[in-house]
Amino acid sequence: MRTLVVDHPLVTHKLTALRDTATDTATFRSLTAELVTLLAYEATRDLRVQPVSVTTPLGAARGVKLARPVPLIVPVLRAGIGMLDGMTRLLPMADVGFVGLRRDEESLIAETYADRLPGDLTDRDTFVLDPMLATGGTLVTAISMLVTRGAASVTAVCLLAAPEGLRRVQEAFADGGRSGPEVRVVTAAVDERLNERGYIVPGLGDAGDRLFGKI
Ligand code: URA
Repeated sequence: MRTLVVDHPLVTHKLTALRDTATDTATFRSLTAELVTLLAYEATRDLRVQPVSVTTPLGAARGVKLARPVPLIVPVLRAGIGMLDGMTRLLPMADVGFVGLRRDEESLIAETYADRLPGDLTDRDTFVLDPMLATGGTLVTAISMLVTRGAASVTAVCLLAAPEGLRRVQEAFADGGRSGPEVRVVTAAVDERLNERGYIVPGLGDAGDRLFGKI
């Protein structure tokens, strides 16, 4: 597994504003979209393309277009929905699937309550959207669902990650693409640790609540 921490002043600036408890819900949502678009730029660096020729007003030019089948974006419900706009801004042609995973607050184990994914992901580049890579349980389950269906690559886009969660994903997909697809994590920062409730410290709190309110 490869981890990329996107080290860019705009990314850190937006992440810092997201962390701030003074940031209201409306601003949190628009900042999340902007931050995800910046992360998506790096996350899509290895997208498969095919060569094409086009005619400019002055002659022929060689270029590329994204290979088919189109990429699949998979927001993990519910907080991942808050990242979808930022991702589709860069990949408007992508398909979108959905995975619903609930974390049991006592055991911290992820349970699947929604699975709206194509049955066959052969040759597809896939992108999982999950803002907080905390214990890693949710992400390991979501990535496994894509690997089982034959995805060509799986890239998780996370606003923040904890070292514990990164280790867990690393252990689960340790073989670096030798017997399965390559798995990557792209994040804006790796924080200090998890607390006893599985929250990232210092983190930004509950991403779902900050995006959509407490329900
Ligand atoms: N989920 C969140 O929303 N925040 C955390 O810190 C950990 C998991």
